[in-house]
Amino acid sequence: MPPPATAAHGLPAAAPEPVWFANLDATDREELFSSRGAALLPGPEVLIVGGGVVGLAIAYFLADQGARVQLIEAATLASGASGANFGGIWPNDQAPAYAESFQALAFLSRDLWGRLSLRPDFDFHWRVNGLLNVNTARFAPSAADFAARAQERGCAVQAVDALQIARLEPHLQPGFHAGLHYPSEASLHPVKAVLSLMRAARRKGARIAAGVCAHGLQLAAGRVTAVETSAGVIEADTIVCCTGWNADWLAKAISLKLPVRPVSGQMIATDPVRPLLKSSVLGQYLVIQLPTGEIVTGGNTAENSGLVPDRELTADFAAAAYDLLPELAGTPFTRAWCGIRPATPDGLPILDRARGAANLWLACGHFKNGMLLAPATGKLMSDWIVRGAPSLDLAPFRADRFGHSV
Ligand SMILES: Cc1cc2nc3c(=O)[nH]c(=O)nc-3n(C[C@H](O)[C@H](O)[C@H](O)COP(=O)(O)OP(=O)(O)OC[C@H]3O[C@@H](n4cnc5c(N)ncnc54)[C@H](O)[C@@H]3O)c2cc1C
Repeated sequence: MPPPATAAHGLPAAAPEPVWFANLDATDREELFSSRGAALLPGPEVLIVGGGVVGLAIAYFLADQGARVQLIEAATLASGASGANFGGIWPNDQAPAYAESFQALAFLSRDLWGRLSLRPDFDFHWRVNGLLNVNTARFAPSAADFAARAQERGCAVQAVDALQIARLEPHLQPGFHAGLHYPSEASLHPVKAVLSLMRAARRKGARIAAGVCAHGLQLAAGRVTAVETSAGVIEADTIVCCTGWNADWLAKAISLKLPVRPVSGQMIATDPVRPLLKSSVLGQYLVIQLPTGEIVTGGNTAENSGLVPDRELTADFAAAAYDLLPELAGTPFTRAWCGIRPATPDGLPILDRARGAANLWLACGHFKNGMLLAPATGKLMSDWIVRGAPSLDLAPFRADRFGHSV
């Protein structure tokens, strides 16, 4: 795979357009891009750096609590991992892979997405369509044992047999004898979700400006006094870093080296086809069908910051999808793109206050679950910033849990 091109602000250049941007209607597209060149708020209380789902969720919840918020984004809103993912809200499926602290955050967040989906400014194709796992390697020794253990832990999952699988997803290839069904897992349109948060945050007075890159910090007496950006120096009482995997810009000013690394993933999509799938289905790879008809699959993990889709991987994903859904065979996958997950050593996000700068907050490293965890991140960080304490213990998400001094 060739190395990614590098844009002026140090981030990789844009990947081929993900399906989520391609299927936006003209109004949504215009609204999303309206943030480019937007005027900055004079003297904001809070400056949020990074316009992915995490930054926008924090902007929304802070503005909801009355804070005067300015968000800046180097490129386009959702141009990072937030516009390149599955849109899976899968707390029950994900919980067993992480420490227990993940679960409370994830369940709270899934609940918040459901509540937000009912609010006036929020329109992001929210669907509680369930997840079906038919990949036996993922539930050893048996579906029944796995489900029982996960239920003990509080997860909503049940073991299903061949007949139940065929009823749930009649277009899957026959021959699956056992699976796991997560009936309360949900999905959303990630770019429309980011757009919804932007719309609602703006309605509450937040300013959102894309095309503004943060380069560094000015510090005095253990506090950030200003952020240096491509649009000039911005002073704010509080700064929140939501720059996904790219937290190096902090290191230039203070010796704050966050243990966040890029983990790339590739996805492919067809044009719209007739309804073949209801749930998200995990076979060799994850496969979903959007309400707009596209089949989307992929989601490998590669320890790099590659943004150029690999043809062999595309062929591999397509072959697995044809195998899972025989009626799809011959339908071309017309779109391929990559995204970069912000990974930490334990796969959990960093939600903390920076040690060397009392008014600098960190919300990054959400790895495979940033879409899922964004509302809880936004709510808890805004409670912490505005009220002095989050309503959930965020100690498991401290930046120094890896032994680094940050
Ligand atoms: C293939 C794939 C599938 C995934 N599937 C799922 C899924 O189904 N469910 C789920 O929950 N999660 C999923 N994820 C993970 C999820 O996409 C991420 O965890 C989430 O998007 C991270 O959001 P973020 O806002 O922290 O980062 P990003 O979306 O990367 O946003 C960070 C933003 O900061 C900006 N920025 C960086 N540096 C600067 C700077 N110096 N100044 C200003 N702006 C800057 C960037 O341009 C970027 O827009 C998936 C990820 C991938 C790659």
